Amino acid sequence: MSEVKENILRIRERIAAAAARAGRDPAGVRLMGVTKTVGDDRILQAIEAGIDIIGENYVQEAKRKIELMGKGAEWHFIGHLQTNKAKYAVRLFDMIHSVNRMSLAEELNRRAAAAGVVLRVLIEVNLGGEESKSGAPPEEAAALIRAVAQMANLSIRGLMTMAPWYDDPERARPCFAGLRELRDRIAAEAIPNVAMRELSMGMTDDFEVAVEEGSTIVRIGRAIFGERK
Ligand SMILES: *Cc1c(COP(=O)(O)O)cnc(C)c1O
Repeated sequence: MSEVKENILRIRERIAAAAARAGRDPAGVRLMGVTKTVGDDRILQAIEAGIDIIGENYVQEAKRKIELMGKGAEWHFIGHLQTNKAKYAVRLFDMIHSVNRMSLAEELNRRAAAAGVVLRVLIEVNLGGEESKSGAPPEEAAALIRAVAQMANLSIRGLMTMAPWYDDPERARPCFAGLRELRDRIAAEAIPNVAMRELSMGMTDDFEVAVEEGSTIVRIGRAIFGERK
């Protein structure tokens, strides 16, 4: 068995245990393999081991990989998306997790319309308050969602966040709980064209806490592929 496959099995066990602690069905948590800087052979091993969502941070790097590896998995964009890359992103990705500002949403909508597609998106929210993280401030998220809901070629599927790094993952819990509470508040508004199904949260150092708090997509890089070069 490849090391990548062993790592994936171990992570799935940890997801299942975290889901059980929270009384959740582990089938409600999807495992994304985050592959920035990861070589093609190891990505293919992950897809063979059943990873069906690949997350990429850079449009150019992803374009090459998607052309090479095709559609054995869904490809999701999770990095900071520059507005001038929106036209490539709408053609390459099955979902964009990092819609964090009006200007980007408008450009994605315009490009998706031109390409004749409806693009699935998550709204990225910065709940940790760190300036280095690029999500929308929580107090602006609802207004952004109401505006994006009007865009015919974008389909909102939920929310994404990145917790600050802490040496104790318990400290990330309020951030994940905050995203879940925001999701519930928005869902209660029942805005047309807004589904609040997905909570994309949890990475190598904090995914178990995120699953306990309701994550539906955990984004894991190093625990699957090893430390990045
Ligand atoms: C790199 C990255 C991840 C994965 O981080 P690991 O700590 O390697 O699991 C998840 N989400 C985003 C947005 C990332 O940039």
